[in-house]
Amino acid sequence: MRVICILCEQSFKPDKWTEKKIKKHPHLIQICPDCHERIKQKTLERQEKKMNINQ
Ligand SMILES: [Zn+2]
Repeated sequence: MRVICILCEQSFKPDKWTEKKIKKHPHLIQICPDCHERIKQKTLERQEKKMNINQ
């Protein structure tokens, strides 16, 4: 099974857990692990900045 990442438009093979999720909800948008990691990093950065402002 292959899915297309909406961010980089690369096809990737989902892991078992993701595959289950896709089968249950085929209309969910998919993000590849690379992009997912990038988003996570950005989110963390933003949270850190927020925390710094609050200090
Ligand atoms: Zn991607």
